[in-house]
Amino acid sequence: MRFDIYIKNARIVDGTRSPWYRGGVGITDSKIRYVGSDLPEYAADAFEVIDAKDHIVAPGFIDVHTHSDFLLLRDPVMQSKLKQGVTTQGIGQCGISPAPISSEQVEKLDIYSGFIKAGTHADWNWRSFGEWLDVLEDLNLGTNIVAFAGQGTIRIAVMGFDNREPSSDEMAEMKKLVSESIEQGAYGITSGLVYPPGVYSSTEELVELCSAMTSKNGLYQSHMRNEGRDVVKGVEEIIHIAEENRMPAQISHHKALGRSAWGLVKKTLALVEDARKRGVDVTVDQYPYTSASTTLRAILPPWVHEGGVMNVIERLADKSLRSRIIKEIEEDVTWDNYYQNSGGASGVTVIYSPQTPEYEGKSLKEIAEMTGVDPLDIAMDIIAANKGDDAACYSMMCEDDVEYVLKNNNVMVISDSIPPAPGAKSHPRTFGTNPRVLGKYVRDKHCISLEDAIWKMTAFPASRLGLQFKGILREGMDADIVIFDPDTVDDKATFEHPFEEPVGIEYVIVNGVKTMEFGNFTGHTNGKVLRKG
Ligand SMILES: [Zn+2]
Repeated sequence: MRFDIYIKNARIVDGTRSPWYRGGVGITDSKIRYVGSDLPEYAADAFEVIDAKDHIVAPGFIDVHTHSDFLLLRDPVMQSKLKQGVTTQGIGQCGISPAPISSEQVEKLDIYSGFIKAGTHADWNWRSFGEWLDVLEDLNLGTNIVAFAGQGTIRIAVMGFDNREPSSDEMAEMKKLVSESIEQGAYGITSGLVYPPGVYSSTEELVELCSAMTSKNGLYQSHMRNEGRDVVKGVEEIIHIAEENRMPAQISHHKALGRSAWGLVKKTLALVEDARKRGVDVTVDQYPYTSASTTLRAILPPWVHEGGVMNVIERLADKSLRSRIIKEIEEDVTWDNYYQNSGGASGVTVIYSPQTPEYEGKSLKEIAEMTGVDPLDIAMDIIAANKGDDAACYSMMCEDDVEYVLKNNNVMVISDSIPPAPGAKSHPRTFGTNPRVLGKYVRDKHCISLEDAIWKMTAFPASRLGLQFKGILREGMDADIVIFDPDTVDDKATFEHPFEEPVGIEYVIVNGVKTMEFGNFTGHTNGKVLRKG
């Protein structure tokens, strides 16, 4: 057999959790044509030989949960993913997707998408989900793309930011958008139940909306209503939605957020296990960090968000309302208070505030010292000045919980990467997730085995999404492959230096095309938009 590419001297971790074995891998066109004994004649005949040098050869990593949607318009190659070994990424998470759109609500969707737009100018010249996928298809994509439709996006298309129940006509319209989106290639829908308008949706509304997917086997992924001390309730809600509809669901970026919640992951993962035992198809994903990242305005009490960002800004401009808000953040413990749960001003780091770039990368404590203004007062000023374009990191999880969740068999690895705007800082997970699991948690801390870690990044997400030709190194599968050195692989991104590239990832092949070589981009891309069949 004469292969386009033959990988010799491989230690193969095939994605199935089988222990690694020595061998060779042959690729022709976009497919894996051979996996087996390392035969010198194959190396002699191949058009190109890659010497893996006894390093690990694994399926390309699948990162189901990213917020790369708009970033792809500006940076379709996305070396930040390729350099981690990621060959397929999921977009449209946490309720936010760029489609489907209703023409009357474009402005609201533009505001809603603010914190994942990352300074990208979107011309919004698509409407349906299929048209959005067509836009992506025209790009020189570095990775494959799996897209979800956001429940928030769909609700905005039909109801704007209204805080009320949908009428039966509106519900019918939203269900139509769900089923059309899936017919046009979406893998399911996602919700972000802490952000308006998702926060206005009742459990019953979500059950009803998701029922539009059941015949199409779409996946429901949710950034749950509660991730803090009521995280158990959040898990109960998603299990209920999956159970009522007899449909697959996945808990997004699972964690126990805030000191008052630490340890509750033992209870939540037991609930997931119990649900699975009685036939509920529910799974979990996680990013390997103790810091969370979302909007800066997430520090505001829930009532302040009502009506959307412009209303938030009006409220912050009202002096008496502002002092009430600050007092509640400082003293109130009846809601998931991000400020208190981060341990106060030093635990909240502003990473994106384009109108006030001087504060990016600094904690509220540092900004207060710079400006002489109280930390919460300056936080309000930053939120008001940036009109919805704001992001922050919150130091809210504990290491024991991160490891406990990572060890669980129902949990896959994701990044939840939120792209930084040009010049802004970012959560280190954007550049570090997969190498961090392989370095810190596999090699250094022995938290999980190498084979389990790779399974959580390959075959497990592939089967969850129904990607029949990805996630396993086997003949006939798509040639998405990563080669890395298990002794050196590591993340280097930190809060101070979030763009430091990981080390140890040597080759990345996407659909048969060598896209990374010796850790560098080759200039050749072959990512595809995958549409749910
Ligand atoms: Zn989220």
